[in-house]
Amino acid sequence: MEIVNTISDMKALRRRVSESVGFVPTMGYLHEGHLSLVRQARNENSTAVVSIFVNPTQFGPAEDLNKYPRDLDRDISLLQHVETDILFLPKGEEIYPKEFDSWVEVLGITDRLEGMIRPGHFRGVTTVVSKLFNIVEPTCAYFGQKDAQQAKAIEKMVRDLNINVKITVGPTVRETDGLAMSSRNSYLNQQERQAATILYKTLQLSEALWQAGETNAEVIKNKMIALIDQEPLAVIDYVSIADDRTLHEFTEIAGPALVSLAVRIGHTRLIDNLMLK
Ligand code: AMP
Repeated sequence: MEIVNTISDMKALRRRVSESVGFVPTMGYLHEGHLSLVRQARNENSTAVVSIFVNPTQFGPAEDLNKYPRDLDRDISLLQHVETDILFLPKGEEIYPKEFDSWVEVLGITDRLEGMIRPGHFRGVTTVVSKLFNIVEPTCAYFGQKDAQQAKAIEKMVRDLNINVKITVGPTVRETDGLAMSSRNSYLNQQERQAATILYKTLQLSEALWQAGETNAEVIKNKMIALIDQEPLAVIDYVSIADDRTLHEFTEIAGPALVSLAVRIGHTRLIDNLMLK
């Protein structure tokens, strides 16, 4: 695995690859969710590139940028095991030099859900991802369904701006008790880790109700909220049942629906989602 730290070295390496390049952008502290995307990139392309960059512009002022978990040695060893060809580790000063003034913003779909609670978050994500696309010039890029709204914003950006990359969204990888894998799970103490299973239980409840024939989104959401309220450590940011295409809230579930939620367990904010289709 080649490790590159500068934009010019990454571009020089890219010029040497003429066949397909699969790219997985990450913020590191890797887990099986990331690695599943790297394996897919590996299988579907001749070269697999992974980036690790904790992107400051997607964190709000009161968020966890400074304590975001990092373990580069462990990440390098995990990436070597899945046969990553290139690891790109750009420096913050090079990605955002002092005179940096240009932003990429996707409107509409980013107003809701995470965008409501985390203003500016998606602008940071789409800006850094478009910069990384320009540097790495991937043929295909891989994102996780775990961050469904992020994947949608990136798909929209690629369509709207005619960026020459194919986006693939991989399924959410879960722990055996259903908790979606996340670097932020490392913040949870033992009691909180147990409480965090409420997210997937609640998503499963929505699926069971829908499969039993309930199509009234308010009825399902109220039962989801009541279940989360039984967990004393959980505080709800939102519970949503939205049109998977537009992310507008459904009143009646009238097509493929994205059920998503954001719940705080102690100081840790967790998100998860599931598709009803
Ligand atoms: P992050 O390092 O959190 O920015 O995530 C990098 C990529 O991995 C994003 O496309 C995420 O959606 C994806 N990802 C994170 N957690 C999971 C998971 N549990 N299953 C699948 N993909 C994931």
